[in-house]
Amino acid sequence: MLDKVRDLQQQIEHYTITSPEQLEQFRMRFISRKGVITELFEQLKLVPPADRRAVGLELNALKNAAQTQFEQFSQLMDEQQTMTGTAPPIDLTLPTLPNLTGTQHPLSLVRQRIIQIFERIGFNVADGPEIESDWYNFGALNFPDNHPARDMQDTFFVEKAAYGGTDMLLRTHTSNVQIRLMERQSPPIRSIMPGRVYRNETISARAHCLFHQVEGIYIDRNVGFKDLKDTLYHFVKELFEPGTQIRFRPSYFPFTEPSAEIDISCQICGGKGCNICKHSGWVEIAGSGMVDPQVIANCGIDPEEYTGFAFGMGIERITQLKYVVNDLRLYTENDVRFLRQFEGL
Ligand SMILES: [Zn+2]
Repeated sequence: MLDKVRDLQQQIEHYTITSPEQLEQFRMRFISRKGVITELFEQLKLVPPADRRAVGLELNALKNAAQTQFEQFSQLMDEQQTMTGTAPPIDLTLPTLPNLTGTQHPLSLVRQRIIQIFERIGFNVADGPEIESDWYNFGALNFPDNHPARDMQDTFFVEKAAYGGTDMLLRTHTSNVQIRLMERQSPPIRSIMPGRVYRNETISARAHCLFHQVEGIYIDRNVGFKDLKDTLYHFVKELFEPGTQIRFRPSYFPFTEPSAEIDISCQICGGKGCNICKHSGWVEIAGSGMVDPQVIANCGIDPEEYTGFAFGMGIERITQLKYVVNDLRLYTENDVRFLRQFEGL
């Protein structure tokens, strides 16, 4: 066996080739799966166990030598063909390879569009922490201690020990930014706060534990419900198709009084009724209301002097209506077939 290996080593070392055909012959004899080296590897099990290791090492060396020799021959052939002009001519008429670039995520597109609309009417963008204390997420917003939203069912709480015993959680809305803003800035305040929020929900087509909101707040002297309506009418007119209907529906939130939910005519069926609007012709897009005087006072602003409105909406929801996305999970699965559809929007 060792003799055979050494003999083949000699052959490979002294092999010469002058044509592509000979290169192919070399490949068939030494490299291919039906070649002599593969055959020797198969015979290795017949070698007495004591010698097997030594023979195996030699065989491996032989295999590597054949591979190296083959690569050198291939390079040689390439060079010869280029020099003699026998290489296939380059076809300059072939189309180029497509230059694939990423596309913007639909949620980013909608987020940017929302920011753009509000910036044009004088709102700036504010930001705040995603890990927040109970006070900024609930307490300052008038959530009573026994409010169901504080339940473990809805909120991700963070180990208390890491924060010196304070109740900490992943924010369930971006309202914490409103509170922080009112604490550090004196009115007028006119800001929107886009960001990630977290709720302890089972992931399905209709719910996710991570989603995005844009909230807005306007605090100044003499801000009334009319200002809230004007602002949101303008927003809907800018963002959705012309002719979209809007309605305010009385509602309840702990941090606004009075409160209203905002519905628009269904973008999918045009108000005739479909699955998305549950055959009502209307879909809810936002919650809103006049900021509760107690919340304003909680932030150290005099509610006798200043009033304001606030609103909030889910970016996933708006995107669903704008682009007919029926499954929330599509946003986070990174399927390029989904993402490519938003190219150039
Ligand atoms: Zn509909």
